[in-house]
Amino acid sequence: MFKIAIDAGHGYNTPGKRTPDGSMREWEFNSAVATLVQDELQNYEGVETLRVDDPTGKTDVPLKTRTDKANAWKADVYVSIHANAAGSGWNSAEGIETYVYTSKPKEAMTLAANVQNRLIRETGRKNRGVKTADFHVLRETHMTAILVECGFMTNKEEATLLKSDSYRKKVATAIVAGIAETYNLKIKTKPAPASSSAAKKSDKLYRVQVGAFANLENAEQLAEELKKKGYPAVIV
Ligand SMILES: [Zn+2]
Repeated sequence: MFKIAIDAGHGYNTPGKRTPDGSMREWEFNSAVATLVQDELQNYEGVETLRVDDPTGKTDVPLKTRTDKANAWKADVYVSIHANAAGSGWNSAEGIETYVYTSKPKEAMTLAANVQNRLIRETGRKNRGVKTADFHVLRETHMTAILVECGFMTNKEEATLLKSDSYRKKVATAIVAGIAETYNLKIKTKPAPASSSAAKKSDKLYRVQVGAFANLENAEQLAEELKKKGYPAVIV
C-alpha cells in the first residue's frame, strides 16, 4: 500500500489562526480540504490515508504527536494543509506557496513542484513558488513531506475563496493530482456491470477517444477534466 498521512494544520480553537474579521478559523479550511483529499484519494488503487490531526477540531494536536503518528504508521508521504496569514489585519499579500525542509530533499522538491503547479493551474492564484522552511512537520517526519499554504486569510478576496466549497474542492483536487502525478497513482477501474453478458463474451476492447492533441499540456488538461468527472482517462 502507498500510505499518505494528511495533516490539517492547527485546531478549531487555536488562537490567532483566523481571518481578521473572525468569520473563518484556519482549521475549518484545512480540515475541509483534508477530508476532500482523503475522499479523492479513495479513487486510486493501493492508497491508504491517515489523518494525523483531530478531525473533530476539538484539540490542536501537538506537532510532535502528529509526526510521531505518521512515523509510527510508516507513511510514504506527509501532506500538511494550511491557509496563510500576513500580520493580523487585512492587507494585499496573496497567493499560494508550498514548503519543503531546508535541506531540499529531492523527492519532496519534485512532489512540491507538482502540487504547487497543479494548485496554480487549478485556482489561478498568484504563484509564490516552492520555498524551504525549518518547520517541525517537515523536519521530524521520516518520509517525504510538504506543507501547502493555499491562500491568505488576511487578503479579503482570498478569505472569501478560502471559505467557499468550490475553492476548497479545487485545492483538494490539485493536491491529489500533484501526488498522483509524482507517484504514478492509478485510478481504480470501475468493474463492468454484471448484466453486460456481451462484454463478458467478447475479448475485444472498444476504446472511446475524446480528443487528440499535438500539445501534451492540452491533453493533460482534458485528461484531468475527465478524471474529475470519474473517468479513468489515460494519455497514450
Ligand atoms: Zn497554518
